[in-house]
Amino acid sequence: MAAYQICGELFRRYRPCPRNPRNPRPRKGLVKRAAGMALGGAIFLLLAGCQVNPVTGKSQFNMLSQQQEIAMGQEQAPEYIKSFGGEIDSAPLRAYVSAIGQKLAGQSELATAMPWRFYALDSDVVNAFALPGGHVCITRGLLAAMKDESELAAVLGHEVAHVTHRHIGQQMTMNMATSYGLIVGGYALGMRGEELKQAYNLGSLAANVTFLLPHSRGAENESDATGLRYMVLAGYDPNGMVAMLNILLEMSKGQAGLMVFSTHPYAGERVKRISQIIAEKYPNTEGAEAKTVLTQRYKQNVLDVLAKLPAPKHQQEAEQTTGQ
Ligand SMILES: [Zn+2]
Repeated sequence: MAAYQICGELFRRYRPCPRNPRNPRPRKGLVKRAAGMALGGAIFLLLAGCQVNPVTGKSQFNMLSQQQEIAMGQEQAPEYIKSFGGEIDSAPLRAYVSAIGQKLAGQSELATAMPWRFYALDSDVVNAFALPGGHVCITRGLLAAMKDESELAAVLGHEVAHVTHRHIGQQMTMNMATSYGLIVGGYALGMRGEELKQAYNLGSLAANVTFLLPHSRGAENESDATGLRYMVLAGYDPNGMVAMLNILLEMSKGQAGLMVFSTHPYAGERVKRISQIIAEKYPNTEGAEAKTVLTQRYKQNVLDVLAKLPAPKHQQEAEQTTGQ
């Protein structure tokens, strides 16, 4: 995986020289060398990690360039899609989801800069997530839970915003920094050879599962605010985002937790914040199209189609959550 290779590069760059048994390296300068490595690593990460957030225009700590992110997405998206049962076996449904996604992405700052792709996955887990490089996924479990098109637009708008804010690269960068910290820390503690490799593997593991880890509170708030803007620009009622989160909160009652909340935490407080943004910024945007039309269209294009399909290819008996 690409993340592994990047971490591998760090490891190769900073791995200690093999010890010469005839002339063992004195341990006296060990801490000094480790401190030097840590400083060098920090400078490397800072220099390599300055990218501009396309939405806010501010610098952010992100080691991946846009092109690297696109390449990573192209390489890894098929694997993720497969692990969630592949795409739903209905070309009209897939086209409908994709058209709404493209309409939202078309309002974004990276409308033409990303090779946007939207996937409806044949899995009963309830989730949506964005992979690097403009690959946005929504599961059958989540599609079946919603009632109208503005709710679907809210989910896709939020995911598009994760991409345009470059949150995925940012998250990976933090994980790489953690991996690097484990290597340097291990070295300073006297680890060598296999032990150091284990520390590196632990860090690589953290970097590799990045795409399905929880986003931070700040990233969630940014994606909500920007997603609402994309929704309104695309002609949707922003209240669809509140409705969608309320459906999920209702569903999660009495359950161990929905997977969607493990990758997108803080749902309760998000509802309050989103309602505030709508009241302040979009007080008169209700119903570019009547709710009845949006509900009817969603029923025809999604709910009725799903009702006729065989059971989802990917099923998860008990959904898990990280508890956030
Ligand atoms: Zn999110």
